[in-house]
Formats: sequence, C-alpha cells, structure tokens
Amino acid sequence: MSESVKSLLAKYGIKPKKTLGQSFLINGSIAEEIVIAAHLSIDDTVLEIGGGLGTLTRRIVPRVRKIYVIEKEKTLAIALRDLLGESENLEVIEGDALDVRLPAANKVVANLPYSISSPITFRLLDELRFESAVLMYQKEFAERLLSPAGSRDYSRLTIEVTYRAHVERVRNVQAKEFYPVPKVDSTVVRMTPRTSGSFALDDTVFHWLIRGIYSYPNKQIRKALKIWFRNLRYDDETSEKLIKRCQGGLSGNERLRELSLDELVTLSDSVFETIEDGMLRDPRSNPK
Ligand code: SAM
Repeated sequence: MSESVKSLLAKYGIKPKKTLGQSFLINGSIAEEIVIAAHLSIDDTVLEIGGGLGTLTRRIVPRVRKIYVIEKEKTLAIALRDLLGESENLEVIEGDALDVRLPAANKVVANLPYSISSPITFRLLDELRFESAVLMYQKEFAERLLSPAGSRDYSRLTIEVTYRAHVERVRNVQAKEFYPVPKVDSTVVRMTPRTSGSFALDDTVFHWLIRGIYSYPNKQIRKALKIWFRNLRYDDETSEKLIKRCQGGLSGNERLRELSLDELVTLSDSVFETIEDGMLRDPRSNPK
C-alpha cells in the first residue's frame, strides 16, 4: 500500500469521477494529521465515509477495534478490500452513505464527497450516536459551520448544525494536496455533539421555527415572523398578536442573522408556550 494514488488508480483501472467527488488525498502527512485529530483509541469503533483508495483507512485500521468504511463505487470497494484485506477489523460496506444502514460507531472520520455534505452531516447528527467526527468539507461549506452570529456566512445551516454539535477547525487543506486537483480548497473540522448550553423546550418546535423564518436572514425578526405567520395562513390581526407573544425578550428590530443560538432558543421557547396556550398551530401534530 505504499503505491501512489496515481499508480493505484491505474492498477484498478479507475478514472476519477467528479460526480462522486473523487479527488484523493495525496499528502500522507495531512492524512496522518486528520487521523490524529480523531483521537482514536483501541476501544473505538470508527465509521469512515468514502474510503477511496484507503489513504485514511490504512492509518485508522491499526489504531482501533473496528472500522466500517462505506464506499459507493464498486471498483473502489473492491480495491479497498484488496489493499487492506488482511485486516480483520475492517468491514467495507459497498453502498451510498445516504441510504445504507449506518453501523454503530463512536467516532467518524471522513474526507467527504462534497456533493453530499449537507445530507450526510444531518444523517450522522440525527441517526448516529457518536462522540466525535473529524470531517473534511469544501472550505466554503466548513466556513458556514464555523461562522459566528452576525457574519456573512451565518446561515440556517450554521444554526441547524451548531444546535446539535460543537464545531471547531482542525486545519485548511489546499486543493493541490489532492489528485485530481479539485477547483476548491478544503477544511477539516471536528464535530462534537453538544451536551451543554441551551436547548429548546421542544426540538420539533425549534426546527419548525428555524425552517419557517430563516429564508429571510437579513430581515428584522418582527418582519420574518410576520411573513411566516402569513405563510401559515393567519390573518393580519392574529399575526400581530402572535408576533408580540412570540418575540420573547427581543425588541423585534434585530436582524435574524444577528441572533445567537441562545436567542433563537429563547424565541423558540416563546413559540412553544404560544402553542401550549392553544394560540398557534402545533407542528408536532402536523409539521407542514
Ligand atoms: N478517503 C479518500 C481520500 O481521502 O483520499 C477518498 C475521499 S474522496 C473525496 C470521496 C470518496 O467518497 C470517493 O472514494 C467516492 O467514491 C466516495 N463516495 C462518493 N459518494 C459517496 C456516497 N454517496 N456514499 C459513499 N461513498 C461515496
């Protein structure tokens, strides 16, 4: 397995496909850094998504109890088994990481195919009970996860991910560290599910609110609520009452983008109480 990515691609007759995000990491010391950032131990069960030619896999195998690798492309799944077949703790799952049943794992490590960044992140956060995930994303996507309230990149994605997990930058990776060289740079982050800080009284209400108001991140909160209540088919008079009731401790003039996660949780709890009082439709009985 000391062969280079290029010679392995030739050996297995693989032409990298852009549609599958097939740019392979060629810098071994960066691969090592990524694996070290995962703080692996011999008791760990790791899930890797998109094993490719095993650049990360072969560094993870000797460090952990068990590793599952999901790889969508058949030829790469065969190559992985061929290259690392002697490793009894490795199981290659050939399939789409968005569809296959996720095996139980306490850590995740992946150089993700960027086209599935968003759905796979939510799938991991919602379906897998993991302690930490070290994930490589397209740089711009990672910046959205890392951006503070008020900044240009702070978005619905930032809120929905940081509500569930703490995200920190491990390092940036230039495009030239991959073969074929992609058009974009990358960033590795560590994601740790959040267990402290503020949580909404009801998660369904929180997500319903964020989905409802966050199409308009530059709008003042009062105006965003007004549009949302109109979309929910409340008349103007009721809508005004609901806005006053739901604003929590906010003045209403704040722009959505400036609201911190804590402030959005407070807003969500006011919405929750308004629902409990029977003034607002309950998304838990009809989420549409
Ligand atoms: N881990 C390797 C590395 O670091 O060089 C490969 C990373 S490459 C960016 C992404 C890998 O994900 C490719 O091997 C690709 O075939 C695989 N892939 C693409 N879409 C996938 C999906 N939906 N499910 C699982 N694997 C996928």
